[in-house]
Amino acid sequence: MPGTRYRLEVQPRIPENLARLRELANDFKYTWDRRIRGLFYQLDHEVWESCGHNPKIFLRRVSQSRLEQAARDRVFLEEYNRVLSSFDSYHKEPMRSELQEHLSHDKDLIAYFCAEFGFHESLPLYSGGLGILAGDLVKAASDMHLPMVAVGILYRQGYFVQTVDAEGNQVAHYNPTDFADLPIEPVHNEDGEEIHITAPLPGREVRVRIWRGSLGHVSIYLLDTDLPDNDDQDRSITYQLYGGDNTVRIQQEIVLGIGGVRALRALGLNPSVWHINEGHAAFQALERCRELLARGMDLDTALERAASATVFTTHTPVPAGHDIFDPELMGTYFASYVEEELGAEMDWLLGLGRSGLHGDGGFNMTALAMRTSRYQNGVSRIHGRVASEMEGYIWPEVPMEENPIGYVTNGVHVPTFLAREWVSFFDLHFGGQWRSELLNEDFWKGMDQIQDHSFWSLRQTLKAELFTEARQRLIHRHRRNGATQAQIERLTEHLSPDRTDILTVGFARRFATYKRATLLFTDPDRLARLVNDPDRPVLFLFSGKAHPNDQPGQHLIKVIHEFSRRPEFEGKIIFLEGYDVALARKLVTGVDVWLNTPEYPKEASGTSGQKAGINGGLNLSVLDGWWGEGYNGENGWAITPHDPEMSSDYRNREESKELMELLEDQVVPRYYRRNGHGYSQEWVRMSKNAIKSQIPRFNAQRMLMDYVRDFYGPASRQQRRLARNEGESARALARWKRRVNEAWDSVRMERLDWFPHTLTSGDKLPITVAVHLNGLSPEDVRVECLVGRENALGGFDTQERHGLAHLEEKGPDGATLFHLDLEPTLPGLQFYKLRMYPYHPDLAQLHETGRMLWL
Ligand SMILES: *Cc1c(COP(=O)(O)O)cnc(C)c1O
Repeated sequence: MPGTRYRLEVQPRIPENLARLRELANDFKYTWDRRIRGLFYQLDHEVWESCGHNPKIFLRRVSQSRLEQAARDRVFLEEYNRVLSSFDSYHKEPMRSELQEHLSHDKDLIAYFCAEFGFHESLPLYSGGLGILAGDLVKAASDMHLPMVAVGILYRQGYFVQTVDAEGNQVAHYNPTDFADLPIEPVHNEDGEEIHITAPLPGREVRVRIWRGSLGHVSIYLLDTDLPDNDDQDRSITYQLYGGDNTVRIQQEIVLGIGGVRALRALGLNPSVWHINEGHAAFQALERCRELLARGMDLDTALERAASATVFTTHTPVPAGHDIFDPELMGTYFASYVEEELGAEMDWLLGLGRSGLHGDGGFNMTALAMRTSRYQNGVSRIHGRVASEMEGYIWPEVPMEENPIGYVTNGVHVPTFLAREWVSFFDLHFGGQWRSELLNEDFWKGMDQIQDHSFWSLRQTLKAELFTEARQRLIHRHRRNGATQAQIERLTEHLSPDRTDILTVGFARRFATYKRATLLFTDPDRLARLVNDPDRPVLFLFSGKAHPNDQPGQHLIKVIHEFSRRPEFEGKIIFLEGYDVALARKLVTGVDVWLNTPEYPKEASGTSGQKAGINGGLNLSVLDGWWGEGYNGENGWAITPHDPEMSSDYRNREESKELMELLEDQVVPRYYRRNGHGYSQEWVRMSKNAIKSQIPRFNAQRMLMDYVRDFYGPASRQQRRLARNEGESARALARWKRRVNEAWDSVRMERLDWFPHTLTSGDKLPITVAVHLNGLSPEDVRVECLVGRENALGGFDTQERHGLAHLEEKGPDGATLFHLDLEPTLPGLQFYKLRMYPYHPDLAQLHETGRMLWL
């Protein structure tokens, strides 16, 4: 039809007695409160679906008559009032008591910086696990009423929406968001003008608007450069998440890091702790140094102060996840900032970003973040170790087991990812208080009291919902791609909501190659036999996006698409396009088994398996990331990882073989071994084990408590300690570090005693060490004796640590003497070592200097 199509949206007048729907639509709490979303759904579920579960758009598009009808509907009004009263009491809750010994609600404020936040499908500000994790942490902070603000970027187009064409090619769509559709507002000053800040780019200051959103108790500030005052290129800095080249990337990171600090200051906020969540936000430390310099501090002292308040979390061992900028690009963007604002040289900054033992790796944002923070962590026990190894060059003389990098294992936000059906079920069985028992392992043992058949039938209901959703999505996609009705029927044949008795396995995540999405297809004939067993069929659902520049990742999608069209796999191997949080919620709650096949040890944590587990799904996963801690032999299955030194062909072959064996010998038989009531008792037992072992340990509140106890609390105390006397402690610490660094290379240590190789039980071994301190004083160092055994690999396992005491008398050449009468407590053969490292009582971490000397 020719002619212009004019757009018109007829908006309803919201009835007086439903006026607070607007308030509910303007607090991100709807992203994790199913009852709030339920109100909108009940008003009109078709409009709710068609507006992408966005309450603000919903309230503009729902019909006047429907609203008026609801305004008179007693049942609806009752629910509306219940939801409001729980919304109001949530907002009145005080800080949770378990936080109080670590942080003060009035004095502390945690600023949480991240390049992406995944709260809900209606806010496309995330690409995958990192964003969802950040969203979950902030939601948990609100639930516990932790004083926190979040800082991120408001992407106009966000991350892409994925479709897959008839050939299996991923097509990326960037849909601009109308910010008026989001529950956020630009921040204004008292005169009603928008508050803008600027971020320094070469030869110009780009203007940045600050948007504010409420997430329950937490505010999120989102930065946006799309302002008429900026030129077109600058306006587009905040268009796409991970969309541009390194130039756009560095500009975004300047806006986030430097702009983020300026935004908080413009709002009058003074965080006590700054959390850099992944290296993208690491430039913030520079801006905080600049502020301290302006107050008269020297650069070293300023850096010491800034770092003392900073927590840094690294999220991946995969190189592509670490931003590395060319020194030249850094020069273009930072030369004048560093020279004019910080009074330093570019070499100083380049030194902070140097990576690797030889420093030839370019300017590395992870290195910058490590050097400008005093509290660092990986995101699972395995990843903590891997990160200590990868980033060990920051503390070159310290053995990697002892460098400061710790870990906090990721967890998921239970109210977001626990199925609505479980929420009602737990309410019925445990009463509402289960919500405050999320960390209580004993409480969750109560799962055993639930009747097996009702447990099983609830799981079937969840699967039916998944099937309905998957079916609709498949029909939609294949119609668009021109499939015939007969084809569509074959493709959706096994997705019948009233035939859920088919073992269903899910695999959904970003399609990065290390996640090995196609490992399952290593032996297609064997897989075909597995899925087509007439008595014990298996269905596989795949979903996930590959980064638009990641050709190998997109190829994996195509490979799965092609398998899914082969006659022997049609309808049994299914790829669902457009993976997002909405689809994730359906998949993790509905499948029987959650499959994960990463290349060890590259899965830093992984969280989707936790989401499945809390809903009773059984993980079948390589023992990597969180599963290294989560697997207990009774809550799923583990694929043995192989040494990363072995060839990837060998590892793929062995691990895919084990995967098939587990499926054939364990998973399938157990699922189909039915009792007289038609369900599998063993399966129910494992599934209950999954819930009771995973809810208390892998939820976001536990994660947040770990951060509070081991990172935020200590950082808050440390920055206060260094701030004493106008920062005199920081100045002294910075001076001491300079002195140590200048002296250390010529510090020498030698042993003076005669050392026997045998000792009779009960006797002491006198050890005397002479140290040439090169101008340092005995209080500046610690001399230690480590006692241990040789381990199976020929290494040394420390079992005891003893300090040597400083003696008054001097040794040869005026050396300082340290002595210990070692009383061995271990019997038999053992080993001991002697070492020395710098020590100052104001250090945040024992080995933060990176210095150590061994005999
Ligand atoms: C949880 C989640 C992820 C993270 O999955 P991993 O298992 O950590 O790879 C990615 N995308 C979405 C939409 C999610 O909900």
